[in-house]
Amino acid sequence: MVSRVIPVDCFDLVVFGGTGDLARRKILPGLFRRFLAGQIPEDARIIGAARAEIDDTGFRAFVKDAIMEFGGKAAKQTEAVAQFLERLHYVAIDAKGEVGWAALAGLMRDDVVRAFYFSVAPALFGALAERLHQHGIASPESRIVVEKPFGRDLESAQKLNATLALHFTEHQIYRIDHYLGKETVQNLMAVRFANILFEPLWNARHIDHVQITVAETVGVGGRGAYYDKSGAMRDMVQNHLMQLLCLIAMEAPYRFDPDAVRDEKLKVIHALEPVRPDDIVRGQYRGTGKGTAGSYCEDAENPDSRTESYIALKVDIANWRWKGTPFYLRTGKKLRARASEIAIVFKEVPHSIFGEEEGWRENVLSIRLQPNEGMTLSVMIKEPGPGGMRLTEVPLDMSFAEALGEDGTDIPDAYERLIMDVIRGNQTLFMRGDEVEAAWAWTDPIIAGWEARGDKPRGYDPGSSGPEDALMLLHRDGRRWREIRE
Ligand code: NAD
Repeated sequence: MVSRVIPVDCFDLVVFGGTGDLARRKILPGLFRRFLAGQIPEDARIIGAARAEIDDTGFRAFVKDAIMEFGGKAAKQTEAVAQFLERLHYVAIDAKGEVGWAALAGLMRDDVVRAFYFSVAPALFGALAERLHQHGIASPESRIVVEKPFGRDLESAQKLNATLALHFTEHQIYRIDHYLGKETVQNLMAVRFANILFEPLWNARHIDHVQITVAETVGVGGRGAYYDKSGAMRDMVQNHLMQLLCLIAMEAPYRFDPDAVRDEKLKVIHALEPVRPDDIVRGQYRGTGKGTAGSYCEDAENPDSRTESYIALKVDIANWRWKGTPFYLRTGKKLRARASEIAIVFKEVPHSIFGEEEGWRENVLSIRLQPNEGMTLSVMIKEPGPGGMRLTEVPLDMSFAEALGEDGTDIPDAYERLIMDVIRGNQTLFMRGDEVEAAWAWTDPIIAGWEARGDKPRGYDPGSSGPEDALMLLHRDGRRWREIRE
């Protein structure tokens, strides 16, 4: 299968925070790969804007290093790297002061798409929006891309929305959630809405439950003090896991159109039931050695921390389609494998004509986001051979990684796809302001509840599947978690 590349319109993309970690690891190497794929038009320019006092040459050297380190096999194409670097410019700028703004205004061209990527701390979003406006750099068609976290609760998210709304309309604001840019996540919508096969079964009558797992092997490491102020609920569930849940649970939008899709997602968030305290398990990873060495509290530099590095929740959706089918969500750090999966676990057949078969399994549609993006549907078949009617489970593999490239590395990274969507002016895979606020409105009472109760996270061993109590969350309901494995 050869993927088609459709070039986007000519653009000036300003990356505020262009010398930061996210720009270095994801945005700039991603743009290079799009350049290599032929998607970036001849005259398009990428302008780094950050505090570092460097010039175009310094920025090009920085980006070259970033491509060498994070560009994958694309980095070997040295001639293309050199051509790409010519598209780059740099302005030293102060988001909160006057330095650099006149220079940036002077660089911008008319008649091309203007996009501004706010890859800086959220505390600077307001200042950037205001200055872009003051200096006449943003036009009514300009787009801004804002990074996570989008607030830390409903109040701060509302404030942030209101600040951005002073200078930009909703159709100009692209709130990024890179989970939505993953090939598999979009394929989930294709599988659901472009095939007649699944949709009739996609409801509480046929689906027993859904599991969404985002497991990481890393701890909070160098960003412990920052992470300690948020925790897994704010850092992962409110945004990434919530978005995945919405895509599984939403009704068919009337069209694949940004607002039609986001309207349906919003309805799902509104239908989420409050989560009961018994349906929440929070955990903190222990140290590997004696005492607290290597533990979450040590990494967070806070011996008394009650912030969770792991969370599992049972979530109910109060609507006709899903009443009675729980969604179990879990995410955590220092777990046994780096693996993200959505598993749709179907109900058993109403009556087995084969008797009590050992090894009988339900059908499961497994949607893997990482590693090895792809989908597998497990089905029961007859074990081949003359040994009578014995059943066995086989996977119907819908993986597309191999189909798209020798080893799957040709699949565009989520950031690449999303940045190209910004240039195209397509907001389908970006969160709308009301969606983010609704997600916080559901999240806030859950957090307030455990804070009021003084709940302490349970310890779990690094390299495990999380706290024991999380296993019980499913055992209690006669179910079990899927194995966390790469
Ligand atoms: P970083 O600290 O590595 O980089 C910050 C950048 O902002 C630098 O380029 C710096 O020069 C610039 N900057 C700081 N103050 C400035 C000012 N007053 N004026 C102009 N520029 C200024 O941060 P990061 O890790 O790249 O994160 C950037 C944003 O992306 C944050 O909102 C973060 O939450 C979000 N994010 C980062 C990651 C990641 O993996 N790094 C992942 C998801 C989201």
